[in-house]
Amino acid sequence: MKEDIRGLLPYELEKRLTDMGEPAFRGKQVFQWLFKDVESFRDMRNIPKALIAKLEDNFVISGLTLKKHQKSKYDVTEKFLFELNDGNQIEAVLMGYKYGNTVCISSQAGCRMGCKFCASGLLGLSRNLTQGEIMGQVTEVSRISGRKINNVVIMGTGEPLDNYQNISNFLRLIHEPNGMNMSMRSITISTCGLVDKLKCLAEEFPQVNVAISLHAPTDEKRSQIMPINKKFPITELIGECRDYVKKTGRRISFEYTLVKDFNDGDDDMLILAVLLRGLNCHVNLIPLNQVDETGLCTSGRKRALECMKILNSRGIQATVRRQLGSDINGACGQLRLKQSVE
Ligand code: SAH
Repeated sequence: MKEDIRGLLPYELEKRLTDMGEPAFRGKQVFQWLFKDVESFRDMRNIPKALIAKLEDNFVISGLTLKKHQKSKYDVTEKFLFELNDGNQIEAVLMGYKYGNTVCISSQAGCRMGCKFCASGLLGLSRNLTQGEIMGQVTEVSRISGRKINNVVIMGTGEPLDNYQNISNFLRLIHEPNGMNMSMRSITISTCGLVDKLKCLAEEFPQVNVAISLHAPTDEKRSQIMPINKKFPITELIGECRDYVKKTGRRISFEYTLVKDFNDGDDDMLILAVLLRGLNCHVNLIPLNQVDETGLCTSGRKRALECMKILNSRGIQATVRRQLGSDINGACGQLRLKQSVE
């Protein structure tokens, strides 16, 4: 199978090309083109025809084929369904904010974390995405939409820290000065809390933003909806978050999905406020986006605002996340492994 050229770091690409008898500078030239919205090698204008032919013989320019592109009627959200070379499908969502465009990308085809409220894990994990497939979502969404990408959130399908190696290579790739040159501060990784990998992330990429999917203030409740809590319980997770803030000097975010009559009571908010006391953090409250198969109900926006007030009154910074793209099933937790492509 041909190699996905967008997964190669500059030194790797240079090595591939010098092995083919090309001078080293061609590696840098080709690498720069890969981040300029090109659709095929023929679009690389200063590359000799003979090299273009070699590139076509050895590489694909994107490991992703667009299968479906939807635009929300209510906001500027767009959803992209891509097929991978082995037939797996993944989704990415592009959202517009006042401060620029954010793309939400997937890290795995499916997910093995089994969170009870989420559609992405209903069929388990199919496989990890390669760094080229992760990078390709950013470049393809930018090319197809014609919109500049300002921020990347790794909050689509999959658990990014369960695919740590490829995610860390992706971070190096997107940060490359000759490529997209994106600052680590423009990137957010959302995790259900793989504490061992979180430690590695804080050491290797201290400037990347981290969001922790917390969703419940006690082990008793969290274990009911998030199986990972049995391996990494709340005290360990929050302990690591406190270390993370100390080590990196950065604020940490928590995501808290509100499920009606389960984790949205006044007492839940009060326990949460005690748990997070003194930690430099921000809580993102997300009214549950309903997924038919789970049978769970949303607390709704009104209750979310009440929860926000309780946290604020206890000195915890909290906001309610805007719901974007729910008419195209592009909201949090609505991305799926299997799609019906009409
Ligand atoms: N595996 C990572 C990233 C993917 S999920 C993680 O767990 O963080 C991105 C966010 O959407 C997580 O906070 C997740 O818990 C939340 N989410 C999942 N299902 C949801 C749903 N049905 N409604 C609202 N948020 C949901």
